[in-house]
Amino acid sequence: ELYARPVTLEQAGMDKGFLFVIRDRTEEEKIDELKNEFVSIVSHELRTPLATILGFMEILLNRDVHADKQKKYMQTIFKEANRLSTLINDFLDLQRMESGRQVYHFAPVDLRLVVEEVAEQWNGKQSHAIHLELPDGPAYVYADHDRLTQVLHNLVSNALKYSPAAECIDIRLRRGEGQLLLEIQDYGLGIPADSIDKLFTKFFRVDNSDRRQIGGTGLGLAIVKEILDVHKGKITFRPGPEKGSIFTIELKEYIPRSIGGKILILEDDDSLA
Ligand code: ADP
Repeated sequence: ELYARPVTLEQAGMDKGFLFVIRDRTEEEKIDELKNEFVSIVSHELRTPLATILGFMEILLNRDVHADKQKKYMQTIFKEANRLSTLINDFLDLQRMESGRQVYHFAPVDLRLVVEEVAEQWNGKQSHAIHLELPDGPAYVYADHDRLTQVLHNLVSNALKYSPAAECIDIRLRRGEGQLLLEIQDYGLGIPADSIDKLFTKFFRVDNSDRRQIGGTGLGLAIVKEILDVHKGKITFRPGPEKGSIFTIELKEYIPRSIGGKILILEDDDSLA
């Protein structure tokens, strides 16, 4: 957006005539928007966990607290500090991506390995079984390995978090036509129909009584969407047949070229565009 502002002749160092200054305000507006967003996060999202941390720290420091309770208070402090850390990291990640400052390292990535690595990370850290259904042989996409890991990590984390009473989640990787389809299915709370179109919007969280206790920032799916956009991929949601959620990622399959049995990696591969 451009706007014109008349200035006085003294300011312009002229003794007669008109002068209009034309300034591109797009950048300024973006900065204002960021500032407003940040102020609103600080006021809502950062203050609550900080107040909890300070409150419990004060009790621990100033009163004689029984050992059992001490441990409980410290666990709460730890949980809230973690929440703060996730919020800040997610917010900075998304900001970096949106402003184009995120550097992506594209290379052929075997999606099967990404799935296995993420499933392994969650192993033993929670009570659900993670069922994997993977194709035989490698399933390549041309992608940034770490960012794809982040996508899958966020989706698996949600599937586990929003299905507290379920025993398992399923991750399926299969081939479509020229595409790889990665599905993450849970058997949990599901998503109300009127929330579906807002799911990938920053800070959006479904506000139902059944999930008020479940912590989160509302940034996980926005980050997923942002990364998939850069990879020219797609993500869709559909409800599970009985309950729960199914998120499906579509990415173009990358067919590595090989010479004499060796895989040839082409840095600027036209077939990727
Ligand atoms: P959050 O940090 O709140 O989990 P996300 O951006 O990852 O943020 O998700 C946005 C909202 O979408 C969540 O608050 C949750 O209500 C809903 N949601 C996401 N994934 C699932 C899922 N697998 N099952 C049920 N609800 C989900």
